Amino acid sequence: MLTGLKALVTSGPTYEPLDPVRFIGNYSSGKQGHAIAQALADAGVEVWLIHGPVSLPTPDNVHAIAVHTASEMLDACLLHLPVDIAICAAAVADFRPKEQSRHKIKKQPNQPIQTMTLELIRNPDILATLGHHPTLRPKVVVGFAAETQDVLNHARAKCKSKGCDFIIANEINQQHQPFGNQKNQVTYVSTNDDEQWPLMNKEDVAFRIIQKINETLDQR
Ligand code: C5P
Repeated sequence: MLTGLKALVTSGPTYEPLDPVRFIGNYSSGKQGHAIAQALADAGVEVWLIHGPVSLPTPDNVHAIAVHTASEMLDACLLHLPVDIAICAAAVADFRPKEQSRHKIKKQPNQPIQTMTLELIRNPDILATLGHHPTLRPKVVVGFAAETQDVLNHARAKCKSKGCDFIIANEINQQHQPFGNQKNQVTYVSTNDDEQWPLMNKEDVAFRIIQKINETLDQR
């Protein structure tokens, strides 16, 4: 039973600004993270949904906080600790532009060179920060992993290195592109166990993730 517990869910992409009109982003729609937030709220959990730019309605009975960048997402997450459950479903940009231009970056007229180099700097890892938190680690920490090859091994390694209880892994290939889709085919991966789940609606994936969270708590 999860009723009365408190959860943090990250969802959607992050946008990392280059200048006042441009950013580095990705194709994440936020559908999976938002479906998880809704399923947790339906299970009686107090949910804080920290999400990047999405065009989805806020799930019912969820506290939603809209952010843009990975750093803002991390700050919002840390602000809402302690929680019992953390699920990091956001597609957080690994890097951001090192400098943000105050003005729109302009093409140089008559510039002979046709390339431009951007310097990027590493973003904080929100999932690893929560999973390894020295004093306020949530009781259950769940991550996602999108991999193009060797899904199980990469997901298992990620589960350990980021301090997760389990990871929900997606294989990305030409047949299967979960970003923006209503359905998702995932593999549940913990450090000592894995299960391939069939292709299903993101709402059903969310429901099964919640069952796994229940099992994880019961095993304590
Ligand atoms: O390392 P990778 O990006 O594949 O890890 C994916 C998992 O880590 C997802 O759960 C994602 O939400 C989380 N993540 C994060 N902060 C980052 C990068 C990834 O929370 N900077």
